[in-house]
Amino acid sequence: MNYNQEQAVFLQHVGELIRKARDYGLVLTAGELYRTPEQQALHIKNGRSKTMNSRHLVRMAIDLNFFEPGPDNTLKLVYDGDGVARLGAFWESLDPANRWGGNWPSFKDTPHFERSQGAFEAGIFSQAGAGPFGPRPRAGGANCSRTRWGQNAGTCPGMSNPYKNS
Ligand SMILES: [Zn+2]
Repeated sequence: MNYNQEQAVFLQHVGELIRKARDYGLVLTAGELYRTPEQQALHIKNGRSKTMNSRHLVRMAIDLNFFEPGPDNTLKLVYDGDGVARLGAFWESLDPANRWGGNWPSFKDTPHFERSQGAFEAGIFSQAGAGPFGPRPRAGGANCSRTRWGQNAGTCPGMSNPYKNS
């Protein structure tokens, strides 16, 4: 799975999470999903986060606000309770990579749902010319992408054509 596919799977799971909340008696509103490094630095300064390694920086974390409907149709903001705990468990049941902030040993963060770093990402971070937002364009331009190797024999500096002899 490549980086964008990981991000897309994460968002699909968020969709399932939002639909499931109603079953547990919760109404949700949206908080943050993507954060710029500047926003993250501000959260650390204000004590809202402890790390510059946040999954929000790579679009694989979301914060949600939980509300319980009251008897007179008002909504009461909650941070824990049975419904919230069940929703956290549901999130982690969707995929082995999913982590709920309510299960963190310290600095519990119940509104936070994330997809943890997978095997693919662990690999791409160690490759030259790749980063958290995907591989950089290769020398020679867009036509030098791996998927077009077969059509561009000899035109991409530093790349060999694996189909040359086939
Ligand atoms: Zn968060």
